[in-house]
Amino acid sequence: MPKTTKKESIASKLAKKSPMKTAAVIPGTEGHQPVSAFENAMIQFDEAAKVLKLSSSQIAVIKQPRRITEVQLPVRMDDGSIETFTAYRVQHNIARGPAKGGVRFHQNVSLDEVKALAFWMTYKCAVADIPMGGGKGGVIVDPSRLSVSELERLSRRYFAELVDLFGPDRDVPAPDVNTTSQIMAWFMDTYSMHHRNHVPGVVTGKPLELGGSAGRVMATSRGLLFATRRAVARKSEKLPGMTVAVQGFGNVGSYSATLLQDDGCKVVAISDVNGAFHNPNGIDAHKALAYSTKNRGLKGFDLTGMAKKMKNALDILELDVDILCPCALELQITGKNAQKVKARYICEGANGPLDHTADKILDKKGSFIIPDILCNSGGVIVSYLEWVQNNMGYYWTEERVNSDLERFMNKAFDAVYDTMKVHKCSMRVAAFAVSIQRVSQASELRGLYA
Ligand code: NAD
Repeated sequence: MPKTTKKESIASKLAKKSPMKTAAVIPGTEGHQPVSAFENAMIQFDEAAKVLKLSSSQIAVIKQPRRITEVQLPVRMDDGSIETFTAYRVQHNIARGPAKGGVRFHQNVSLDEVKALAFWMTYKCAVADIPMGGGKGGVIVDPSRLSVSELERLSRRYFAELVDLFGPDRDVPAPDVNTTSQIMAWFMDTYSMHHRNHVPGVVTGKPLELGGSAGRVMATSRGLLFATRRAVARKSEKLPGMTVAVQGFGNVGSYSATLLQDDGCKVVAISDVNGAFHNPNGIDAHKALAYSTKNRGLKGFDLTGMAKKMKNALDILELDVDILCPCALELQITGKNAQKVKARYICEGANGPLDHTADKILDKKGSFIIPDILCNSGGVIVSYLEWVQNNMGYYWTEERVNSDLERFMNKAFDAVYDTMKVHKCSMRVAAFAVSIQRVSQASELRGLYA
């Protein structure tokens, strides 16, 4: 892995260009000001709670995170010096089962972001109807600055420092941005050493050799594909021939591109931290994935002749395509650029890529938005299946896992779609209505221990 570079990373430059702070008020959306990820999540909750007519007591129990932990992680660097990293674990709600949610390693991680991500996990697990609650973790670090051994020491220190929070029946982390199956293996080993036991069920997204599940690597993207197929069918349309743009070409984005292409779509643009690449005649997503794997990203992809580099990476969101898959980070489409988004289907591979103003604008324009807590729930569904297999000590074939995933996704999609029709609301409000109802019911049945 490359060593420390003093140059500002492209990710942080892009983050500075984020429209969040400068968004103008769009006519018709007055009162919808730019917000943080967590504020946006709270607005999403309030809209659905209003539809459900929840009481203030019901809201008080399930809206805010239940436990927030912040730690400083001292890590010895390869040159002998010690650096400290700020890290978080937020457990939002455990009414329906152990907390579940990934750990993110990124220089822009903040407590606000981790709280939002933990909140979305509670309602993602509930919309998918799996028996787990919501959690999320994060470390403020640019992992591309670290050597492999520094990354291992940081990962182990994170898990050791928070070891009492975790457990197969307490809180089960998984990969997120910049965290891999190798990091999950280090997490699992650290926990198992502390407990003098082999405990594979403490994390999911592990390598197959250590109790990972067949199908987990592509699960989030496969779930996105199943949800997209369902949405397109509800509109009496067909996927073959549709054009696709994918922002973010990591785990979720790259496999979403290849799976949609395999279903007959034409991928015309892809992007990552190195920029956006466009070819109206189509980019072979499999070749792009092979390039990105070999070169650790899309840097120089334009030199292959397969696509041209776009001047502004964010313009990928405004291309005239049928399907747009934002698969990078939060708050990419906001009041500032939503009016220019032309895609008819927006399939949220990332968590929180649209803010509430963008939601209003795009709903008005007639875009069909498959909201994150539904669209990218394939990852946590197969994580749940991995946890079940770990608890049994018996492992299924990829066909079995994929067919269970499809069943869960279709059931969740139909519940949300039907709720949208009943309440005449957006797909996002409907997804929260379905899931908030489930969490609230579980909470009431458990009662208050006091
Ligand atoms: P990843 O680290 O594998 O990939 C992230 C990708 O986004 C990389 O290609 C990176 O270069 C790109 N990126 C980062 N900043 C960008 C920017 N400003 N513009 C364009 N591209 C940018 O992460 P991932 O696991 O694919 O996660 C992506 C999103 O999906 C996150 O929001 C994550 O929370 C969400 N998600 C992931 C999973 C999962 O199973 N991995 C499940 C559900 C949701």
